[in-house]
Amino acid sequence: MPEWEPVVGLEIHVQLKTRTKMFCRCPNAYATAPNTQTCPVCLAFPGTLPTPNETAVEWTLKLGLALGCDIAERALFHRKHYPYPDLPKGYQISQYDEPLCVDGRFAVPGADGGFEVGIVRAHLEEDAAKTIHVGGATGRIVGAAHSNIDFNRGGTPLVEIVTRPDIHSADQAKRFLQLLRQTIVELGLSDAEMEKGQLRADANVSIREVRESGYRTRTELKNMNSFNHIARGIEAEVRRQTAIWESGGAVVQETLDYEVKSDTVTPRRRKEEADDYRYFPEPDLVPIEPDAAVLERLRSELPELPGERIGVLADSVGFDAALDLVTTGNERKARLLVEHGLDWATAANVAMNQLATIEPLPENGAALVAIIERRDAITRDALMDALARSATAPIDADEVLAQTVVADTSELEPLVDRILAASPGQVAAYKGGKEGLLGYFVGQVMKETEGKADPKVVNELLRAKLSSS
Ligand SMILES: [Zn+2]
Repeated sequence: MPEWEPVVGLEIHVQLKTRTKMFCRCPNAYATAPNTQTCPVCLAFPGTLPTPNETAVEWTLKLGLALGCDIAERALFHRKHYPYPDLPKGYQISQYDEPLCVDGRFAVPGADGGFEVGIVRAHLEEDAAKTIHVGGATGRIVGAAHSNIDFNRGGTPLVEIVTRPDIHSADQAKRFLQLLRQTIVELGLSDAEMEKGQLRADANVSIREVRESGYRTRTELKNMNSFNHIARGIEAEVRRQTAIWESGGAVVQETLDYEVKSDTVTPRRRKEEADDYRYFPEPDLVPIEPDAAVLERLRSELPELPGERIGVLADSVGFDAALDLVTTGNERKARLLVEHGLDWATAANVAMNQLATIEPLPENGAALVAIIERRDAITRDALMDALARSATAPIDADEVLAQTVVADTSELEPLVDRILAASPGQVAAYKGGKEGLLGYFVGQVMKETEGKADPKVVNELLRAKLSSS
């Protein structure tokens, strides 16, 4: 059997968090009560005219710069026609052959030296309204009793990013998207939460034999709302295409949905050709000609990007931990701990685990490090309580460290003896082979000591006692 190589390109849509919509002054706040954030422009009343959102244009340019794109000297909005209930104008204002940003390269660092993904384009458009199918089991139109439309989302700004087919595994797709998402979040353009639909990705997937040149027929994979679903969807589609080619068949170009439950892909509809949309230049908008001074300012505003920081961090914590820290937003916590003297390995570990859902105040850095360095000597409750409190108020390391764990066997032994003597039935059962009962005895000791006993010492004591007599 031949050896196959996946060839994947991604199309990513990002909802910008500008204050107002793309072409009108309605608040960009579609998570409010349905159909309350609308006006004649975004409802497409006859005679209304669009006015572009300057901030949305600037943010798209900023993203383009961060993606290493060339910025067009002249960009155009086009009308993209398709009849759909959630598109009141009958067309979407988008960009076609003269987008704002083209031809970028985005580096994804990795333990293996990383890889680079070409960016075909990043353009600006308006989102459609949201159709909600009611009465069906799946939330899809199939089987629904009726559908509602929420126009709050209609006309909100959306950036579309299209990559070259430079991605060659599900894991690479996931890593690319994690890093892209973090870059967008740090640029302040969007919260880019996938489960809220603020970042949506479709994958164009084909396969070819290793060392084969050119591309085979691709399919488009939709309906994936987490990084893991995207990775699993690509894997499922690669399996399906492999089976088709190896059985002598041919892959057909079509759009597919990834079904998480069954881990399979199902056909949606045949792909429309680009000309079906009857693109033509939007006659109500003038071309955008980005000003050199504006581009200079945007370039100077770019922060140190996550991809660059991962490369540097990897020297301290290894690549995987660096990627995790940066793309989960836990990096700041780890840096705080390191600044106050903790080693990188411990700091990364605590930031990713015990502090994962906690944002400690910067002034607690020194106290946190003092506590973390001696965490084996205090009770688990004292540790977790101190970490939780560090998010809202100053914490006192000495006070926390006074809540020491009882590891002294001379103190614990009489208690263990008493508990065993009080539970003859359980002791007999344990000796009869029910070794799971050890947990019961440990629990009793922890209860009596109000959680202060060192669980490791208690375990050792109990095992010794139960096996000797
Ligand atoms: Zn409006």
